[in-house]
Amino acid sequence: MAPNTEQLTRPAVRLRSLTRSFAGRTVLDGIDLDLPAGQFTALLGHSGSGKSTLLRAIAGLDHDVTGSGRLTAPGRVSVVFQDSRLLPWRRVLDNVLLGTDGKDAAAKGRSALAEVGLAGRERAWPNELSGGEAQRAALARSLVREPELLLADEPFGALDALTRIKMHNLLRELWERHRPSVLLVTHDVDEAIVLADRVLVLDQGRIGLDLTIDRPHPRSYRDPLLGEYRERL
Ligand code: ADP
Ligand code: MG
Repeated sequence: MAPNTEQLTRPAVRLRSLTRSFAGRTVLDGIDLDLPAGQFTALLGHSGSGKSTLLRAIAGLDHDVTGSGRLTAPGRVSVVFQDSRLLPWRRVLDNVLLGTDGKDAAAKGRSALAEVGLAGRERAWPNELSGGEAQRAALARSLVREPELLLADEPFGALDALTRIKMHNLLRELWERHRPSVLLVTHDVDEAIVLADRVLVLDQGRIGLDLTIDRPHPRSYRDPLLGEYRERL
């Protein structure tokens, strides 16, 4: 059945008055936020500002939030963390396929691994992968689920600068090809500006700044436009 207009235009995420406290301390203070379908958004904020708390709430991993949450069905949400969370006792392809089924699951898993540059590594063990390769495998694991919403919590935070830049290109490419809504949590301002079309800053439990990265979009760390956006944050 063809999707109707409502399905095409409804946001992937719609938060209203989202609030979360820990032991009486308010971390998320009534957040209102829409993430349109297919948009690449980055979420910045200093350490402890509540970025991971917000991402977990959107992922449906936190049952103690108040207010209202996400629209994307839970089965269409994938989450990538700073560590790959691959199971060390399963080979790479089996990690990617975990929890999926269907007769072409294995073929889809292989093709997802090829897309992230890991063709030929299907039978490797997770501890044989570099940090960057493990995050590639984590991306393949989320891709294979064909997510409408991809949530990523500092997925490149533990990688060296050169690997990180390769991963930026990969993530942007995957986004262009599959068009999920992406919410990328990062504390790297340049990463946010180069990758995302919209940059949010979480501050004092609220979205303190909501900046659209207009076209032409800075696409590398050498682009002079980058500095202009940096100054607006
Ligand atoms: P960020 O990801 O921006 O660094 P977090 O969302 O991890 O920040 O944390 C925001 C605040 O909420 C921090 O002060 C943290 O200590 C607190 N916090 C997060 N999770 C818990 C928890 N499970 N129990 C108690 N406090 C928590
Ligand atoms: Mg965090």
